[in-house]
Parts: sequence; structure tokens; C-alpha cells
Amino acid sequence: MPTIPERLLAVRERITQTARACGRDPATVCLVAVSKTRPAEDVRAALAAGQHDFGENYLQDALPKIQALSGADIRWHFIGPIQSNKTRDIARHFDWVHSIDRIKIAQRLSAQRAPEQAPLQVCLQVNIDAEVSKAGFAPAAVAAAADAIALLPQLRLRGLMCIPHPSSDPSGQRAGFAALRALLTQLQQRHPHLDTLSMGMSADLEAAIVEGATLVRVGTDIFGPRLSG
Ligand SMILES: *Cc1c(COP(=O)(O)O)cnc(C)c1O
Repeated sequence: MPTIPERLLAVRERITQTARACGRDPATVCLVAVSKTRPAEDVRAALAAGQHDFGENYLQDALPKIQALSGADIRWHFIGPIQSNKTRDIARHFDWVHSIDRIKIAQRLSAQRAPEQAPLQVCLQVNIDAEVSKAGFAPAAVAAAADAIALLPQLRLRGLMCIPHPSSDPSGQRAGFAALRALLTQLQQRHPHLDTLSMGMSADLEAAIVEGATLVRVGTDIFGPRLSG
């Protein structure tokens, strides 16, 4: 079994190769290591190998790790579903939230972010292939949501996030990512500072980078198969 530093290096290599092959600077793609279900010692192993951005999607699982690693040079990204009663802890303990899917949630996060903290960096999650079962704003609802959320004082709207329906062929993978990119381009006419496309995971990070991802969220290929719990 390869170690976490070895897997991390392999993922960074994939990002570098893919970015170069499509004429992009690899430094424009931020790697978020998704450490959900993994113990704090796995985060420490990745941190020691130079990884500073970590993603979590269950608050209860994340808080003890954030505590155990307090003081470390880490940016914590919340990428999971958000219930209203969890917004206070998310607002206080994370640097980024990628999974804003209701204006109400954004308002709560802004109100509950401590005034002495830097604004919370946020992305709107978009239900890019309009699946009934999936979280996220419908593409047609994104512009109005962005207008509302951009006004919230303790949030800084950075861009869009999606989790497209899994597809095993690269052109199928690219379709959803291309749609998100087009949506961001449209939105930039009204919100020119938006700079983030959070898209691509272990199985499809190459397709996402080709379509302009500025941030990929990778779990399995860094930490191994998810632990249950
Ligand atoms: C788990 C998760 C990931 C990472 O998925 P892998 O396939 O393990 O790389 C990325 N984004 C979100 C929102 C996730 O929940």
C-alpha cells in the first residue's frame, strides 16, 4: 500500500501533467485533500508532506480534528450538506464553505461568523445536471442567489461548485464541468471578482482541470478508501 505522502505526490503529479497538457499553469489549481472519515493523524501525515487545504463534509467528524490540529497552518473547507442548526459551528471553525445551496443558510453563516474573523470564503453549489435528488441551486436560480449572497457582510462569494453525475467516459465527465464554467463566465459579468470553480474529485479531476477547475477536491486517491463511521 502506498503511503499518504506517496499518494499525495501522485495526485499532485496528475494535476501538474493535466494542467500543462492544456496550457494552464499548475499553480492555478488548488488541491483540497478531502479527509472526511479519516483520523487526525492522516491529516498530520498530509500536512507534513506540504498539504495545507483540507475538506470535510460531516461537522461532527470534523470538529475533533480541527481541535486536535488547532494552531497548524491549515485552511479547512466545508464541502457537505448544511443543516440550519449546524451553521454556527461551520461559520466559526471553517475558512471556506463550498456547499451553499440556500440563501437562508448563507444569511445564517454571515450572521454567525465572528466579527473578528476574516470573511468566510464561499461557493454556491449548483445542481448542474438538474437531478431531482441532488442538492444545489438550479442553474437558472444562480444569478439571483449570487446577487443576494454577495451583499452579506461576513461572506466573500468566490464562485461555483458542482458534483456532476458520475460518468466513466471523459467526454461525459467534461459536459457538467463545461456547463459550470459557462455559468461562472456569465456570472462574472455582474460579479467580476469571482475566481473559483470548485469541481473534480478522484475519478474526474483531469476532466475538471481541462474545463477550468481552480480547485479540485480529492479524497480516495490521497487517503485510500473511505472508512465507515
Ligand atoms: C467525498 C467528497 C469528495 C472527494 O471524493 P473522492 O472521490 O473520494 O475523491 C469531493 N467532494 C465532495 C463534496 C465530497 O463529499
